[in-house]
Amino acid sequence: MKCTVCREPAVIDIRRHNAYFCPDHFLRLCRDQTAKAIKDHQMFGPDDRVLVAVSGGKDSLAVWDILLELGYRADGFVIGLGIGDYSAASTQHARDYATGRGATLLEVNLPDEYGYDIPSGSKAARRTPCSACGLTKRHLFDKAAVDGGYDVVVTGHNLDDEAAVLFGNVLHWHTEYLGRQSPVLPARAGFPRKAKPLIRLGEREMAAYCVLKGIDYIVEECPMAAGNRHLQYKESLNSVEARSPGAKFDFYHRFLTAAAPAFRIADEDDTLSRCERCGAPCSAEVCAFCRLVERATTPQPVHLGPRRRRGAANTATTTDRSTAEGHAP
Ligand code: SF4
Ligand SMILES: [Zn+2]
Ligand SMILES: [Zn+2]
Repeated sequence: MKCTVCREPAVIDIRRHNAYFCPDHFLRLCRDQTAKAIKDHQMFGPDDRVLVAVSGGKDSLAVWDILLELGYRADGFVIGLGIGDYSAASTQHARDYATGRGATLLEVNLPDEYGYDIPSGSKAARRTPCSACGLTKRHLFDKAAVDGGYDVVVTGHNLDDEAAVLFGNVLHWHTEYLGRQSPVLPARAGFPRKAKPLIRLGEREMAAYCVLKGIDYIVEECPMAAGNRHLQYKESLNSVEARSPGAKFDFYHRFLTAAAPAFRIADEDDTLSRCERCGAPCSAEVCAFCRLVERATTPQPVHLGPRRRRGAANTATTTDRSTAEGHAP
């Protein structure tokens, strides 16, 4: 197996390109494909300050590394989500990368600063963990970018992620989501611009990039991801891709050029008010994040069962003190 470019020994094949690559040409391909996505979709320019949402996984560390290699002014931002050992290890990988690279990493620890973690907070708020986590991350990324004067928030969503989201949106004809599924969302009414520069590169390529660059990332999946429909969509698309290399790329990228404009929502409402608690732009008096914080940190009633114990209060419920103490602000 020889590199299609230089005929030196190859280390990876990319079937959708019908090509093999040596380490140098593969790393160059990753940089070139990222640069092309940034340019084609006008994601940001050389003078913009970029905040990379880092999870400690391969995609976010790879996109941070590629942006630094391309000469962008990119800092990282990691959130300690309180998902047990997984969060501790993820944050440590982000710190290790930043230290090794001499890059700036901003950190927020959810339990310390907001009084809840994703596993118990989502339960208290009656949301799925991923829904509470997504809302939390979006809010904190926006806040960090606005507070820090960054021009754009970059995430490590790759081709596999975006194709899986598209697959789910098409399967259920979520036309509103299809209208918003874009690799770049412009800044509006107090929200920073958002960009996904890895849309031309797949998951396997990002893992190879990290291995070849010696970037140590967290390999384990988040324990909350089990049963996630997103993973099922990825598996379905992978089996199509195995028989028809390039199908995933065409599915997503032809959507962007041929179909996405038809779903775009003409004028997003830019007349948002401010959340009376945190000041974030929102369409209600209190934003969804502040409502989540309130519910996630409110002590939960515990059902004692059908038989009342002697001496119990005149109610069938009482307060779970361990939860209350664990979530003390
Ligand atoms: S799998 Fe769900 S809970 Fe885990 S990090 Fe992702 S969004 Fe958050
Ligand atoms: Zn080569
Ligand atoms: Zn708020």
